[in-house]
Amino acid sequence: MPGRPFLFVPGPTNVPDRILRAMHRAMLDHRSSSFPKLTRSVLDRLPQVFGLTGGECFVFACSGTGMWEAALTNTLNAGDKLLAVRFGQFSHLFVQNARALGYTVDVIEAPWGDSIPVDKLEAALANDTQHEYKGVLAVHNETATGVTADIGAVRAALTRANHPALLFVDGISSIGSLAFKADEWGVDLAIAGSQKGFMMPAGLGIVAVSAKARPFVDNATSPRAYFDMRPMRVQNALGSFPYTPALSHLFGMDEALNMMEEEGLPNVYARHAFLASGAREAIKAWGLKLCAVRPELYSNTVSTVMMPDGVDAAKVIDHAYRRYELSLGAGLGELGGKAFRIGHLGDLNPLMLAGALSGVEMALNDAGVHVALGSGVGAALTYWRANAPAGVGEQQGR
Ligand code: PLP
Repeated sequence: MPGRPFLFVPGPTNVPDRILRAMHRAMLDHRSSSFPKLTRSVLDRLPQVFGLTGGECFVFACSGTGMWEAALTNTLNAGDKLLAVRFGQFSHLFVQNARALGYTVDVIEAPWGDSIPVDKLEAALANDTQHEYKGVLAVHNETATGVTADIGAVRAALTRANHPALLFVDGISSIGSLAFKADEWGVDLAIAGSQKGFMMPAGLGIVAVSAKARPFVDNATSPRAYFDMRPMRVQNALGSFPYTPALSHLFGMDEALNMMEEEGLPNVYARHAFLASGAREAIKAWGLKLCAVRPELYSNTVSTVMMPDGVDAAKVIDHAYRRYELSLGAGLGELGGKAFRIGHLGDLNPLMLAGALSGVEMALNDAGVHVALGSGVGAALTYWRANAPAGVGEQQGR
């Protein structure tokens, strides 16, 4: 059908025309004297999105998963022991990734839909009197369950336990959409990908390294090659890369940073909260439940919606795609077939999200889940009319 398909998975997100245009250009020689301007423009402006001062950001050509490996191998010694919390599919995969790289990972389990159990984490750290744990792995926004964890509380647990472990935080579905405070939370390695809050195609991984973690990069003994930050740091200082950079993506990222600066990061975060609140009003009006078990855990980038018993969420998702050209996120891991996800992040406004909510209503009814047509959409519209934050809707003439 003509018209744009509706992409409402929690990444990749819609790529705005401005970014597409910025990427659509002839290649240039990445060893030319004009190239460093682009490198510096990107690298100098990225840390603000992480809430980082005094550290450094690295950009690699890969998806977000590569940044797990980059963060771990550049700061740990071979075989080091780590502590992680598993509360969804992505925290699970983070653990798997670390184990595949040869690290020993102790895991604290939390029910999916709940968040990081900070008390258990603190107890485990306090028990580790020999400081065998060299790192703590945490996911800021569990994209599978739609839960945002309190990373400030994780840092507080480390502080109370007086534990020196590095704090690794996956912010792949939060950074650029939700406030991320690397300095304030004492995040040592913060991990992002281009295809979510940065509104880009997949293909750039970004990792922010704190000042505290910097010497670890020099001394780590884990094998590392492509993701070695040491040659990257040397070349980046010259405005260059140790190998051919993903040029189109760098142009796109430069434009993404322009757009984020123009909107203002606080407005970006407020817009995500505003959109997510409307989506949650719709879900409530449908009589469906979120996977996230408490309001303070609700993610402003993705809502994971539980399907009523007996309805296969995978079939509804496929039907929404085939019939209405609406892409919804699948239930992942133990939520497979039981939930669908609405991604509400990136280049998005209320009317776009209202369109997606309309598609959900039709697909649900087609699957025999009777929700009154317009009920969720109406609830969202009512919320958005009454609650627009200052700055939303005032950007004219793009
Ligand atoms: N971590 C989180 C929280 C994610 O949401 C994702 C992808 O959705 C990943 C890691 C994996 O990132 P990528 O698919 O870019 O490798």
